[in-house]
Amino acid sequence: MAPTELDERDFANLRRHMVESQLRRRGIGDARVLQAMEKVPRHRFVGETVRWAAYDDEPLPIGLGQTISQPYVVARMTELLELNRETRVLEVGTGSGYQAAILAEIAAEVWTIERHQVLAERARELLAALGYTNVHVVRGDGTLGLPEHAPYDAIIVTAAAPQVPAPLREQLAEGGRLVIPVGDEFSQLLRVVVRRGDVFPERDVLGVRFVPLVGEQGYPPRGET
Ligand code: SAH
Repeated sequence: MAPTELDERDFANLRRHMVESQLRRRGIGDARVLQAMEKVPRHRFVGETVRWAAYDDEPLPIGLGQTISQPYVVARMTELLELNRETRVLEVGTGSGYQAAILAEIAAEVWTIERHQVLAERARELLAALGYTNVHVVRGDGTLGLPEHAPYDAIIVTAAAPQVPAPLREQLAEGGRLVIPVGDEFSQLLRVVVRRGDVFPERDVLGVRFVPLVGEQGYPPRGET
């Protein structure tokens, strides 16, 4: 079938298959995460030219040199946040808005921050069009967090950081969880940091590859204005 001929029913089938073969079979067990991944129309978050590949087992380009993460990585990071209906979440790196939609399906309130104005606007419009009223897209440097709405029960960073930015640690609520890829530009380890009073126990769980986190507490900008 020519890729352009895919309709909503085809996409729903591809989505079900993605959940089964890429997520459930690989050990994603949280029913809320699986449900969200089965519901959110990932194909709406990528451009027309790659839409046919929206449910493939890989990251995809979303413009401005950025990417939407592989479905498995989205699911695994979401599961690691241990969200529930009361959770207030901060996401750093809105990109397409797909991860934000997954978070919004499970949590109470989601703030998501993006440094590129174009991506922030596009994500804001799409999330509104899809009916999400509990996601707030903010343009800014997410390495500084978003102090005005802190503390957060969960913080997810979807770009590669040289180290855990101190402001994000500080904006975690007691018992809150931060999931962040830490490493160089070629490879990172997914780190989970938990707040227990003034101590922050952490562990590394998975090798990943993300685009760089660019900002005051991240990497310096390269070849862009
Ligand atoms: N979560 C996204 C994918 C993220 S790609 C999705 O579901 O589509 C990483 C994003 O982080 C890019 O859009 C990039 O512009 C953004 N980013 C990088 N550094 C940032 C910073 N300091 N603050 C906010 N966003 C940042």
